[in-house]
Amino acid sequence: MAPIFTSRAADQGANHYDLVVIGGGSGGLGAARRAAQYGARVAIVEETWRLGGTCVNVGCVPKKVMWHAADLAEKLHQANAYGFKVPGEAAQVDWPTLKHKRDKYIERLNGIYERNVEKDGVDYITGHAKFVDKKTIAVVPTYPESKAHGGADVERQYTADRFVIAVGGAPTLPKDIPGYEYGFHSDGFFYLEELPKRATVVGAGYIAVELAGVLHTLGAETHLVIRHEKILKAFDPMLQDTLQQHMVKTGIHVHTNSNVEKVTSDVKDFDLHKPFPKTVHTKEGEKIETDVLLWAIGRHSLTDNIGAEKIGLELRKNGDIPVDEYQNTNVDNVFAIGDVAGKALLTPVAIAAGRRLSNRLYGGVEGDKLSYDDIPTVVFSHPTIGTVGLTEPEAREKYGDENIKVYKSTFTALYYSMMDADNKEPTAMKLIVAGKEEKVVGLHLIGLGSDEMLQGFAVAIKMGATKKDFDDTVAIHPTSAEEVVTMR
Ligand code: FAD
Ligand code: NDP
Repeated sequence: MAPIFTSRAADQGANHYDLVVIGGGSGGLGAARRAAQYGARVAIVEETWRLGGTCVNVGCVPKKVMWHAADLAEKLHQANAYGFKVPGEAAQVDWPTLKHKRDKYIERLNGIYERNVEKDGVDYITGHAKFVDKKTIAVVPTYPESKAHGGADVERQYTADRFVIAVGGAPTLPKDIPGYEYGFHSDGFFYLEELPKRATVVGAGYIAVELAGVLHTLGAETHLVIRHEKILKAFDPMLQDTLQQHMVKTGIHVHTNSNVEKVTSDVKDFDLHKPFPKTVHTKEGEKIETDVLLWAIGRHSLTDNIGAEKIGLELRKNGDIPVDEYQNTNVDNVFAIGDVAGKALLTPVAIAAGRRLSNRLYGGVEGDKLSYDDIPTVVFSHPTIGTVGLTEPEAREKYGDENIKVYKSTFTALYYSMMDADNKEPTAMKLIVAGKEEKVVGLHLIGLGSDEMLQGFAVAIKMGATKKDFDDTVAIHPTSAEEVVTMR
């Protein structure tokens, strides 16, 4: 990308920048690198010792590695149905080896991110950033590891014409529950050193469902404790029901309408990241014996110590930063992107918002902004879910019952034809169309391959495809995806 922005920041001193980005995760890296590619003088501040943020270090990437491991275990079991002779123990994972290789891979990615920011000419500063005034931040040294990565051991100040806040969030712990400290959150999952015999996951969202799926599929007796009737509250009911029923069928103990009262353990000196016996007591009178307890009850934005009060930055009660459609906060020249903005907490959303902001500010792309409509998303459950657009209840509410038509299909993928009924996974699809022209407003998929199937259909939906456009597209046979263009 040719530099087109003329920076005068260097004239104002070594510690002055056109743009300082706070947070070296998905959104921050997207914004910082794009701005620097246009010619802006940019610094990125990261408080840990590794670039990449949640997604790379304790989110999407290590999670997907674990999902692949679980998927392989499933395939090894299923291979017998195709005439292979795979002994049961072949599907037993060597967790420490897997963890070690996964950690090494993440370290490699951290190095790649460091080289990328260097290549783009972004100054990488390690330490915790907080506002001093509207033009100045202080960077406070944090982890000892940060120093090893060139971090300062004294507080330093930097000034900039503009700031992007991309500090993301952290998992929430239920500190009001006695004994909560016997459990860890999703970050802790990636420090877990052994596959536990028994695991309990509390929560019903993406993380709870995905990590319960990994633990169960790799062989742990798994309990999922949800406080309402169903998992995945914000998803289409067909997806909720199909996945929950399949989880129960495959042996996950789903405790519905269950609220944890306390957690007890007789073990005094424990290593949190190794399995040890504990009991989860619910208010409904259940006692769940487990070796690992994972809290997956949501996340909160990391804004309590960024000096928001020094610049009059508005925060929501939950810590999120309200922004308009251009990622503007209430403070001039201070922008917020990614999870901290509290909308569609997904890596590609954070990256796209960051890049578009820099296109607008430094690339001359007037009016560039991210559209938050029709964002496709996948849940890496077993089987996977792919979903884009409105759920059926949302579509009915928006367009009225009389203007909505719903096409559905349920079947068993050909892959399972060699297996007995107990080992088959369901596939279910729902296409929701609105108005006389039958514009597609929602597509919901669960079943083998849904994760990889969705992206292309999401393009069509973003372009305003109708049911007729889907029907006019020749099917690819034999696949599960062909069903999406042949539904009646
Ligand atoms: P982050 O990536 O969290 O980056 C914020 C960075 O800011 C961090 O590195 C943090 O250390 C740093 N920071 C915080 N405060 C300061 C400060 N004051 N000074 C300096 N630095 C600071 N999304 C998907 O799209 N697909 C997935 O499959 C997926 N799986 C996930 C699995 C898990 C277990 C989790 C937890 C999340 C997952 N996500 C997934 C969500 C995704 O990780 C986030 O949406 C994404 O990382 C948000 O990017 P961000 O830049 O807003 O924040
Ligand atoms: P979610 O918001 O998806 O889910 C939080 C869950 O916690 C809800 O199911 C909620 O239950 C439950 N909960 C809240 N408080 C309590 C409580 N006190 N006791 C019991 N349960 C409680 O958050 P996650 O942390 O799972 O994920 C955060 C975000 O990260 C997601 O929204 C998603 O955007 C992103 N992510 C994306 C992934 C992907 O793309 N594949 C994977 C993982 C995360 P209830 O429903 O009953 O209210």
